[in-house]
Amino acid sequence: MRVCHLCRRPLGSDRDALSIDCGGNCWGCVGQIEAESGYEPSVRQVAAEIRRGLRHADGTPRLNPEAPTSHPN
Ligand SMILES: [Zn+2]
Repeated sequence: MRVCHLCRRPLGSDRDALSIDCGGNCWGCVGQIEAESGYEPSVRQVAAEIRRGLRHADGTPRLNPEAPTSHPN
């Protein structure tokens, strides 16, 4: 399984909105970096994800709540 180079989050999970593969890193990391650099579309997207509870208030991604390895069915 591919994982983010920065935080080891599994990439491409359809249950995890922050797991989108952004060139080897997850959107969770990339979005936070872009938002901190002031890139307006990412600032807005990260703010929306904070409201949805996907990120902490500072933009840090929350852990994937449904990581397949930690929740075997
Ligand atoms: Zn990441």
